[in-house]
Amino acid sequence: MFLGWVLEAGLIMFLLLFLGWIFGPKEEPVVCDQSCKRPTSSQAHCSMCHRTYSRASVFDLHRRNGECLDPTSIGLVERDQVWRRPLSERGAARLADIRQERERDRP
Ligand SMILES: [Zn+2]
Ligand SMILES: [Zn+2]
Repeated sequence: MFLGWVLEAGLIMFLLLFLGWIFGPKEEPVVCDQSCKRPTSSQAHCSMCHRTYSRASVFDLHRRNGECLDPTSIGLVERDQVWRRPLSERGAARLADIRQERERDRP
């Protein structure tokens, strides 16, 4: 009698676990709206704020303390629904500097 009860309980537990495994919540990838810009392989899409970033490094910029920052507040610009670093005058000047230095170092 007792053994039968244990077996039965065990069977029910197993069944529940099995059903839970089949119908239970799975770790599905975050479902995005149709409106979300699908990232290319080099881009990163944020599952929190649903913005797409041009690079993983740009994505990292907007995440701080586990929260999403407003991209405009960190100087990012949007083009074609993708947030990216602006090619600022300063950035362009710096690139030119580096290029010049390389030219100079050339034998
Ligand atoms: Zn985000
Ligand atoms: Zn999304």
